[in-house]
Amino acid sequence: MSIVADPPHRGAGRRVPFTQATRAAHERTDRHADNLVAALSTIYDRITIGSNSARHALTEAQRLYSIRSSIRRCGQSRHRCGGALCARCAGTRIGQQRRDLYTATKHQAGTMVSWSATIASSPDVPIRQQWGDLLALLQAATRGGWLSRRGVVGTVRAVEPEHGPDGWHVHAHYLLVFRNELTPAEVEHFRAALLDRYFSEADRLGIHATADGQDIARTRSATAWTRYLTKGRIRRGATDVLSRLWTAVDDGDTDALHLVHDLEAGAFRRRMWTPTGVCKLSEYAGLDFDDLIARGIV
Ligand SMILES: [Zn+2]
Repeated sequence: MSIVADPPHRGAGRRVPFTQATRAAHERTDRHADNLVAALSTIYDRITIGSNSARHALTEAQRLYSIRSSIRRCGQSRHRCGGALCARCAGTRIGQQRRDLYTATKHQAGTMVSWSATIASSPDVPIRQQWGDLLALLQAATRGGWLSRRGVVGTVRAVEPEHGPDGWHVHAHYLLVFRNELTPAEVEHFRAALLDRYFSEADRLGIHATADGQDIARTRSATAWTRYLTKGRIRRGATDVLSRLWTAVDDGDTDALHLVHDLEAGAFRRRMWTPTGVCKLSEYAGLDFDDLIARGIV
């Protein structure tokens, strides 16, 4: 028996061109990575659902004190509401949205740009009005295919309500996916044009927006962009606004209960996560986590 390895078999006359073989190997690796991401996050969701007593405390507080009947009933008879404000469902939901976004954008070769947009807030403006004003301004700034005319082929918008010493503050984070690679000068030109349009539409609508909190910059990937977002899981002791407020409610804080009800009413029938174009994984649209499991997708 020879201890010298055989030379690699070259399959005379059938040699696969190097680039093609490399691409095939990369695609195999990508598929493998996807499966791994999906499997790990499924396991994580399952573990969290099964054993996190900190989270369970908040699902109990929500069952007693939420003004949304879908949230109060969530978990009964294995029913899941799938809501972004539900302690039982929010984590699974945001995990699924991120996995979908990753899958939808991983082969996009164009530049990705993050855009954070806010309007000025004051304690006497109710959250629902602020949320509505922000959406109206964003709609005005992007209407008439303004983004697509500049080469944007997909977007995701995540709306995040915050609460601080100055009351409610609603802001939005966009991921903008361009068809092509942009030069730094083109990104800068786009940034200036979008800000200009945003502020002139704000003036026209009479909505107060300042340079504070507006940010437009190249981002490396959809995954890098999601780091701008709060985590999405609602659990005792976590620092995001829903976790903070529901933890306080669970501890008997009635002010926090009023704020939670403001938020639940303010967010009513409003989407917190809106994908368009290439960022939308249309074949899974409308399916919740249990549907995805039932169909063997995760
Ligand atoms: Zn739920």
